[in-house]
Amino acid sequence: MTKTSLRTRLLNGQTGDPALLVQLRWQGRALLIDLGRIDRTPAPVLFPIEAVFVSHAHMDHFMGFDQLLRLFLARDTTLRLFGPAGIADCVQGKLAGYTWNLTDEYVFTIDVTEIGDDELTHTRFAARRRFAREPRGTSPYADGVVLADPAFRVEAAPLDHRIVSMAYAVTERTHLNVRPGALEAGGFRPGPWLNVLKTAVRAGAADDTPIEVAPGDRRPLGALREVLLDVTPGQKIAYAVDTLFSPANAARIIRLAHDADVFFCESPFLDEDIEQATRRYHLTARQAGALARAARARRLNVFHFSPRYEGRYGDIVAEAHAEYLGQQVRYGDLDRGHAPVP
Ligand SMILES: [Zn+2]
Ligand SMILES: [Zn+2]
Repeated sequence: MTKTSLRTRLLNGQTGDPALLVQLRWQGRALLIDLGRIDRTPAPVLFPIEAVFVSHAHMDHFMGFDQLLRLFLARDTTLRLFGPAGIADCVQGKLAGYTWNLTDEYVFTIDVTEIGDDELTHTRFAARRRFAREPRGTSPYADGVVLADPAFRVEAAPLDHRIVSMAYAVTERTHLNVRPGALEAGGFRPGPWLNVLKTAVRAGAADDTPIEVAPGDRRPLGALREVLLDVTPGQKIAYAVDTLFSPANAARIIRLAHDADVFFCESPFLDEDIEQATRRYHLTARQAGALARAARARRLNVFHFSPRYEGRYGDIVAEAHAEYLGQQVRYGDLDRGHAPVP
């Protein structure tokens, strides 16, 4: 049985507003990447959301904030919301649109984290304080990790959409389980050293790293791992939307989505409309496919299609996957002459 446990769902499919639910199965927890309209999603599906990661505050990525607020207002919980610099102003502006004279007893709190170049800026909005803006300081930010949880971590990468559009990756922690019966078979006694071993394995320590399994008894990490541990790599989900296909953006996306199990990538345009895509700081399907291939993603899931292609959405998917797989494009209608540019 695999313990791999991230389950993803585009709440509005490939054509509606971006909103990617990432459920942590077995844990009853969930994350949401982007916050387009979510009014058609049943509340019980949304209640497990603990943190929301907003790419940017264009309306189709942020208008679901009101719906989430409405659902969460009476709950005894804190919702974390991450986004590019300026997202706290957007949250404040949304909250300022309502009257909060009867929420003094409410526990609900929104903790906003703005992702800057080298620091994270924290701001709190608490219902009991009528959602007044409370600065909560900054924390350093160097390695791209904006949230480190015992079960997963979330990384961010800023992309150029004429404003910052933040891309995200959720990576589950490697599962390390002691193989049943292995301790007895090897003559080991359970103890805190098992956690030392797991921590060292997770950190990628060298195979000859000594681990003290009993007082005075040191064994090399590699041998212990072989005999004792089942190692299941964590799953990785990457997400990139609303971005220009520039060398700098491409490099950031490829790094972020490297080895992803599933890469969710916007594909608003077909490559035949590349000039328009570039003018609007968006990707084409072929560019999405090229990014997924370069990142060595195991699966590509394209979405955020422009409604102009209604009736031709299959062509978008076909173009993206042909490029991803390094094949000739095969459109539904074969003779449109849109062979991929080498
Ligand atoms: Zn946008
Ligand atoms: Zn958009």
